[in-house]
Amino acid sequence: MLSVLMRIIRYSNPVTYLGIKRYSFNFPFFFTLGVCLASEIYAYWVVHSPNIVGVYIILASVGLLIYFAFRDGILGGVTSSSVSVLYYLYIIYSRHYTGDKFSAGIITTAVLGLLYIFMAGIIGWLKQTIDTLIEHEADERKHLQQIVDQFPIGVLITDEYGKVVQINKNLATILRESSLQNISIGDDVTALASGTKQQGHSLQLPLGRVLSTGKPIVEKEYVINVDEQKRIFLQMNCTVIRNQQGKIIAAVAIINNITQQKELEERKDDFVNMASHELKTPITSMKLYIESLFLRIHTYDDAIAEKILVSIRFQTEKLQQLVSDLLDVSRLQTGKLMFTKEIFTIQDVIKETIMTLQSTTKQKIVYTDIDTIPVMADKFRIYQVITNLITNAIKYSSGEKNIIIKTKKNHKKIIVSVQDFGIGISKSQQNKIFNRLYQVTDSKEKTFPGFGMGLYISKEIINKHNGKIWVESEKGNGSTFYFSLPI
Ligand code: ADP
Repeated sequence: MLSVLMRIIRYSNPVTYLGIKRYSFNFPFFFTLGVCLASEIYAYWVVHSPNIVGVYIILASVGLLIYFAFRDGILGGVTSSSVSVLYYLYIIYSRHYTGDKFSAGIITTAVLGLLYIFMAGIIGWLKQTIDTLIEHEADERKHLQQIVDQFPIGVLITDEYGKVVQINKNLATILRESSLQNISIGDDVTALASGTKQQGHSLQLPLGRVLSTGKPIVEKEYVINVDEQKRIFLQMNCTVIRNQQGKIIAAVAIINNITQQKELEERKDDFVNMASHELKTPITSMKLYIESLFLRIHTYDDAIAEKILVSIRFQTEKLQQLVSDLLDVSRLQTGKLMFTKEIFTIQDVIKETIMTLQSTTKQKIVYTDIDTIPVMADKFRIYQVITNLITNAIKYSSGEKNIIIKTKKNHKKIIVSVQDFGIGISKSQQNKIFNRLYQVTDSKEKTFPGFGMGLYISKEIINKHNGKIWVESEKGNGSTFYFSLPI
């Protein structure tokens, strides 16, 4: 019942239609007609005096024309006035006016008719102009919102009292990702800042402070611990906007999600630490072997000397591998990694890799062969990818379990898979391990030596061959790495 009443009020309230360029003909027409009918019923059946309507209907007509001109513009006002004028003519006809009364009636109707049309025109035109202005402003705001939404950073604009007047999509995403309090247009940031939700404070307080002090906040960084695994780094710049008289009229906050940048910085720091360590270890042991050779060069027999030289060679190869990985990463960064393509079969490369790597592990590397399929690729680089996947499979799977390699033809692609039954990778880490210098940082994984370069280099090599590389894995239950290449 109440909702019906509310709907009627909303429908009939002319203010509801401000800014809406929809002008009805039916409502003014039938409503004015209804009023005329009601006045006839009143005159003939209630008071039994047909001539009583004259003055009242003039007042009612004026009221209706103003109302409809304001609600439905020129069309509404003119429609209502026309119905009224026709009703006046009907009164003259039905009451059998004659002589002077008839001419006075006609002249009055004509003058009132002109006056009504004029009033309807003026009021209706004003209403339509207001509609155009409101629409224009709404369009401008929409346009500004569209521009602000395109910004690759979070933007929040408040008025001088801290009431939010504009936020962009990016900010909504940042707030959602950081599990921070949602902010909507119309919210008061200074009030939100004193809210109970602790996390909400970090972004809203500075805005309130900037508004009260007028001093900008430059590149302030916040760390938000979303959960045990996830941290978000935000950088905030805040400033007030003043009018020509220096009065604060708005505040703007620019918020940037710098998590990726921060994580890369952290990874780089870790990398420098690890690289120094990894480079130092073989160099130290090589130095020891060489010292020992020097000291006892005359006393060692050939067999011992050979053993020492084998160790030195092994350490040198390790160093060579590290340095060449480093060089590859740097070449990939500068776009200088070159590919020399030739036709060969993947099966041959896999067999070659297994021959080299089988001697380094007790685990059996099993290869289920299929028909030979030629590909056009950089043989050495594909060898590098396969070596990296098998080396990882050995490194991250314990003991005796087999490593299974398969090749499969799928439409115009060949898919190679390397499966191990080792420690596995959690879902949240799976898309990150292909990032530059990324290593899973569980306490368990920390014990494995490495740089986080292998999968990054592999991914770039496969991408450059128009292929794809991906992983399927479950923590604790081993991993299967796949890559595809066009045939
Ligand atoms: P590295 O092995 O030198 O650390 P990679 O880029 O080859 O670098 O691998 C990145 C990370 O991915 C590793 O640190 C490891 O945590 C994870 N990873 C790679 N291969 C496997 C695998 N077969 N099983 C479990 N984790 C793996």
